[in-house]
Amino acid sequence: MRLTDWRSVFFILTILLQFNPASMAQVFTPAHYDAERAEMVDQQIGARGIRDEKVLAAMLKVERHRFVLPEYLDEAYADHPLPIGDGQTISQPYIVAFMTEALDLKATDKVLEIGTGSGYQAAVLAEICDSVFTIEIFPSLARQADNILKSLGYTNIFIKTGDGYQGWPEHAPFDAVIVTCAPEEIPGPLQDQLAEGGKMIIPVGGQYTQELVLAEKKNGKLVKNNVLPVRFVPMIDSTGRKY
Ligand code: SAH
Repeated sequence: MRLTDWRSVFFILTILLQFNPASMAQVFTPAHYDAERAEMVDQQIGARGIRDEKVLAAMLKVERHRFVLPEYLDEAYADHPLPIGDGQTISQPYIVAFMTEALDLKATDKVLEIGTGSGYQAAVLAEICDSVFTIEIFPSLARQADNILKSLGYTNIFIKTGDGYQGWPEHAPFDAVIVTCAPEEIPGPLQDQLAEGGKMIIPVGGQYTQELVLAEKKNGKLVKNNVLPVRFVPMIDSTGRKY
């Protein structure tokens, strides 16, 4: 090839590279994410009063950037929820830590989660307890979460696509129940499937205002306390109607 031909090749390559979507996505090093994660745990979680060492260690270990969409990689460790597709969100890091700490988990505990979403909360739980059974109503999100969690090597997280209002009776009773979508009332099946002495953390209320309720099962009944005003996506049935 002549020099002018090479010049044309380089010219075309330069143009092509500018329009290559891969070159537009931001690429960060693992060290960058490690530093952001450490800062998140320190400033958003520790500084706001989360003290449980197991929760802090889990939040430091689980790579939140693996659970967000590529276009939000630069916000993976930011102090707010992020869209994950199907109109759903991955919760704010502080809320994940707060809810996890509230359950006061032991290493032998079996936990039920309603609202798998990205799978991030399930991963944090799986670092602390024995097993996590998690239900997601959107098949696409369940599949995506399953892929990520498998690729990260989790073998103690079990995902089911379906309506979490009904719980997962085949694996009940659960030592703890965590719900990350909001119904108007605490679903009866989830109360039934919580073990005696177990704890449940659940946002309860309407579309825009909800209270995070921490409940403990004592003598077969839930003893409830409102612990934080929150805003979660609604818990919906298979027709999309809010519970
Ligand atoms: N725990 C998630 C947050 C997900 S947001 C995370 O760490 O990313 C709440 C999720 O609840 C959404 O993905 C939504 O699709 C799901 N959801 C809503 N109603 C549901 C129901 N009845 N059963 C199971 N999942 C439900």
